Amino acid sequence: MSASNLPKKELFELPEGVIYLDGNSLGCLPKGVVDRASETIEREWGGQLIRAWNSADWISLPRRVGDRIARLVGAAEGSIATGDTLSIKVYQAVAAALKMRPGRKVVLSDSGNFPTDLYMVRGLLQTLDGGHELRTPEPEQVADSIDESVAAVLLTQVDYRTGRTHDMAEITRRAHEAGAVMIWDLAHSAGALPVDLAGCGTEFAVGCTYKYLNGGPGAPAFIYVRPDIVSGVEPALAGWMGHDAPFAMELFYRPAMSTERLRVGTPPIVQLAILDEALNVWEGVRLEDIRKASIELSELFIAEVERRCPQLTLASPRDAGKRGSQVSFAFENGYAAMQALIDRGVIGDFRAPNIMRFGLTPLYLDNGDIMSAAEVIEEVISEELYRDPKYNVRSRVT
Ligand SMILES: *Cc1c(COP(=O)(O)O)cnc(C)c1O
Repeated sequence: MSASNLPKKELFELPEGVIYLDGNSLGCLPKGVVDRASETIEREWGGQLIRAWNSADWISLPRRVGDRIARLVGAAEGSIATGDTLSIKVYQAVAAALKMRPGRKVVLSDSGNFPTDLYMVRGLLQTLDGGHELRTPEPEQVADSIDESVAAVLLTQVDYRTGRTHDMAEITRRAHEAGAVMIWDLAHSAGALPVDLAGCGTEFAVGCTYKYLNGGPGAPAFIYVRPDIVSGVEPALAGWMGHDAPFAMELFYRPAMSTERLRVGTPPIVQLAILDEALNVWEGVRLEDIRKASIELSELFIAEVERRCPQLTLASPRDAGKRGSQVSFAFENGYAAMQALIDRGVIGDFRAPNIMRFGLTPLYLDNGDIMSAAEVIEEVISEELYRDPKYNVRSRVT
């Protein structure tokens, strides 16, 4: 099986002269999306106006899209709600988990977690003002840090900087053994590798759809709740779209009987329609095949970059089995080097303090792209093109 056996590249609008190694941050534009967006905007919104909630079935779009995501992360139909942003979904999951363990005061995450996950937890704990604390041991120490004081364990499966993976099944087992509630953040997992949410038994999972799922900038997030616990989950954000009967306009909140109780307000219909269309590229694709192809691409990328650029230090696990679908290198001039690469059509990104990050997305990358990218990286590093002052001016987004 090679990457080129996944005949999906032609389903994307790939700009001329670009090798895109940042699909882990913002996925590429699938071809049908522009037409779908204009249909949603012109024909449905423009032509149908408010009637489109029923006539174009906007009202069930969040649920239909949730079911399509569920298939990609090993979850049952009806167990995933979509909408809002990942930050909001983290807040909801942690708040619900703390309600489930009222006697416990610790949220356990790790020092490699994405900042917003940690910020949202600390913000929530401040609001609760109930003597809770957030602990963030090193990722390698997390499993051994789960004890009976821990109410909830919040971890991102794939580290956004290094691509290092946590063992979902094992850590979930350890959390449950200690009586803690498990929450997995799948930001860099959904669409990147096989995930077995139902199988690992986690209570909650959250994720975003603009990375490997190609839903576009600002695409809605998702939240998973294990079906057997839904009826006991107390939504911290009791919005009308999570009500059991939103259009009964009742004075008091009654949560929906399903995962839909974790919806909040009016869904972003244009973004959901775009995401729905983008999910078409997954038809007939097995995540196992994506994983195989991703490992092949990343092994080739690491070998080529290390052979050509001894100045770069691999920051990702060398063992492909412990890595998500990205490869990172540490380099002290990483920011400037990345700008020089982008200027030459090789697009990755930079994460402070010194990480050059490259996402590998087999749906629209093949071995030829990897070889071409490695050549450009060699040129930038060996000729020290990053020394050009124009590459050292920091943009707001890195
Ligand atoms: C990308 C990412 C986010 C982003 O959150 P938004 O609310 O969508 O901006 C959060 N957490 C993790 C782990 C991420 O990788």
